[in-house]
Amino acid sequence: NRIIEARGITRIYPGGTVANDGVSLTVNEGEVHAVVGENGAGKSTLMKILFGIEKPDEGTLVVDGQEARFDGPKDAIDRGVGMVFQHFSLVPSFSVYENVVLGSEPAAGVRFDRAAAIKRVRELSEQFRLRVDPEAQTRALPVGQQQRVEILKALYREAKILILDEPTAVLAPQEVEELFTAIRSLVKQGRTVIFIAHKLPEVLAISDRITVMRAGKTVGEVASSEVTEPE
Ligand code: ADP
Ligand code: ADP
Repeated sequence: NRIIEARGITRIYPGGTVANDGVSLTVNEGEVHAVVGENGAGKSTLMKILFGIEKPDEGTLVVDGQEARFDGPKDAIDRGVGMVFQHFSLVPSFSVYENVVLGSEPAAGVRFDRAAAIKRVRELSEQFRLRVDPEAQTRALPVGQQQRVEILKALYREAKILILDEPTAVLAPQEVEELFTAIRSLVKQGRTVIFIAHKLPEVLAISDRITVMRAGKTVGEVASSEVTEPE
C-alpha cells in the first residue's frame, strides 16, 4: 500500500537553483524509507515539499490517497504528516509536555487539562519507546531527548508519516541506538518513517528501502536487503 506517491516534482528556488528536477518518490505504508545523497542533492527540499512548507513548480504528490494541496504545514499535519527538523524548535524554558502540546491547544474557552496532557505525553513516550520525562525542563535535556520531544510532538498530533531530516547527525552513538529502537517501535505500530541519511551502515541497519538522489534527481530505489555493504 503506497502511502506517498510523488511524481515529477520540480522545485526551482528564486535565484534559479533547480533543487528538485523531476523527482519521483514512492513510500509504502509501514516501512522505514531512507533518502540518501550528497549535500545539495535536493533531499531537504523534497522533504519540505512532503511537509507542505515548499511548493513544487511542477509535479504531483498523493499522500494516503489524497492529492496534496501544498498550502502549508497545517494541511500536511491534518493529513497525518509530521516532520522533525535537524534544528529543533523547542522552547527551552518550557517543560517537555508543554513543548509537545504547543500548537495543539484547545479552542478558546476550552479549559486546558494539564494532568491529561502529561498523561497522554507519558503514554506516547512509553508506547513508542521515546524515553523522556514529560515534566522535565527542556533546556536541561541531552540532544537525543530533545529529538524525542520533537517526535512526540508529531505523534501527539497523530502523525502517521514521520519525516526525520538527518536525525542521526546530532546524536551520540548510544542515542542513535535508542532512536533506532523507537523507529522500529513506530513502524511495528503502523507508522511510516522517512528519513534523510548519509551513513550507509546506519541506512542499512534501519531502513527497508532506499531512494538515492543526485543533483536534484532521483537516480534509484533499492531494498536494503539487496545492498551489500562495502568492505
Ligand atoms: P540536501 O538536503 O540534499 O543537502 P537541499 O534540498 O537542501 O539538498 O538543497 C538543494 C539545492 O538547493 C542546493 O543547491 C541548495 O543550496 C539549494 N537550496 C536549498 N534551499 C534553498 C533556498 N531556500 N533557497 C535557495 N536555494 C536553496
Ligand atoms: P538543511 O540541510 O537542514 O536544510 P542547510 O544548512 O542546508 O540545512 O539549510 C538551512 C536553511 O537554509 C534551509 O531552510 C534551507 O532551505 C536554506 N538554504 C539552503 N541553501 C540555501 C541557499 N543556497 N540559499 C538560500 N537558502 C538556502
